[in-house]
Amino acid sequence: PEIEHHQIVVVGAGPAGAIAAAILKRKGHEVLILERQRFPRFSIGESLLSHCLDFVEEAGMIDAVRAAGFQTKHGAAFAWGERYTDFDFRETFTKSFGSTFQVQRANFDKVLADEAERQGVTIRYEEEIVAVDFSGAQPLLSVRRLADGHEYQVSCTFVLDASGYGRLLPRLLDLELPSNLPMRKALFTHIEDRIDHPDFDREKILITTHPTLRDVWFWTIPFSNGRCSLGVVGLAERFDDYPEDKDAALKQFVAETPSLTKVLGNAVWDTPVGEIKGYSANVKTLHGKGFALLGNAAEFLDPVFSSGVTIAMRSASMAANLLHRQLSGEQVDWEQDFAIPLKRGVDTFRVYVEGWYDGSFQDVIYYPNASPEIRAMISSILAGYAWDERNPYVAEPRRRLRVLAELCASA
Ligand code: FAD
Repeated sequence: PEIEHHQIVVVGAGPAGAIAAAILKRKGHEVLILERQRFPRFSIGESLLSHCLDFVEEAGMIDAVRAAGFQTKHGAAFAWGERYTDFDFRETFTKSFGSTFQVQRANFDKVLADEAERQGVTIRYEEEIVAVDFSGAQPLLSVRRLADGHEYQVSCTFVLDASGYGRLLPRLLDLELPSNLPMRKALFTHIEDRIDHPDFDREKILITTHPTLRDVWFWTIPFSNGRCSLGVVGLAERFDDYPEDKDAALKQFVAETPSLTKVLGNAVWDTPVGEIKGYSANVKTLHGKGFALLGNAAEFLDPVFSSGVTIAMRSASMAANLLHRQLSGEQVDWEQDFAIPLKRGVDTFRVYVEGWYDGSFQDVIYYPNASPEIRAMISSILAGYAWDERNPYVAEPRRRLRVLAELCASA
């Protein structure tokens, strides 16, 4: 059978795939993206952090994203009972993009993919990679065209796996590791929100802690078209005490949470409620001979700080730049130059995710009298700058969080 050859194959045209492909194309490499779905397609993960715009800019897509009419986002607000606090991304320790966007991912991912194509990346939609062979001199991929079932093979110099929850190479190469985070579940929908609450800030994500179940929280992510994404997250077993019907369960969680019912009192629920669970995942390695794992195809922590797309794009940028060096003839070290530095920031997020669920970081967030300097350092992390080690809360997250949480708890 005929074998096509391409220089770089990227699996998946989500944010990780589109950004990596465009960066490589801009550096003069030939890139083919294989994407099994037809775009636009729904994806979860709609609230972006400021830091991800650094990579949108690097990939030459910032004008297109700005022109797309998405909801501007300036920060994150948190509510728990009577407590309310917010962090402004224009007041961060790390100076960069002060604001970002809240996006319908169907549209956003299509803008990125179209921009990659415009820059010369080839994207084949509705083509799925079904098998891989890394035993030869070059990676060999088996591709199925979904329209007619036709299968063909592609060889290439390097594969970037940006398959997201598809986790192509972790599954096929036996790289999967269970996450050390417990199994959580999310119920989510889109609503016509009709929010008229004077204090509600459409330019921030609202994270609401359930009044009595402190590990249960909601996201309210306003879009620019009068609609919101709404979701609830909790330990999977929590949901056993709630109706089996997903719509009824989400409504009951909301009804138990007065500060949120106040905001959503006029909302029109017009979209079936979806469910995703067991999304946290890990891998044994982020790279191997002829491949690297990007975004959610590698590790996924937790949705609470909206770090998913930022980590996906950061990994895409790092891998693309390193691969460029490798293809230019340099000797590169994927562990030293990709995996370790990428994981450092991911591990910073992990400390704050764990602190959210054990309550210590919530104590810090809801503490009313924090100093502006400390708030700017925390805000920086919430804006995605988890790799800036000049920030003490990035350099020493575990110790700093512990000390701060003790201070807040004893105050
Ligand atoms: P994806 O966007 O999933 O793209 C992967 C693509 O690969 C898909 O289009 C898929 O069709 C394609 N593909 C898969 N397998 C194959 C194959 N075999 N062949 C060809 N193509 C294939 N992140 C945020 O930043 N902000 C949030 O507010 C946020 N909220 C979240 C809420 C929840 C409940 C969860 C679970 C996650 C949330 N996330 C959030 C995380 C976010 O969803 C992901 O981190 C992000 O979508 C990862 O992007 P990606 O490019 O790695 O993968």
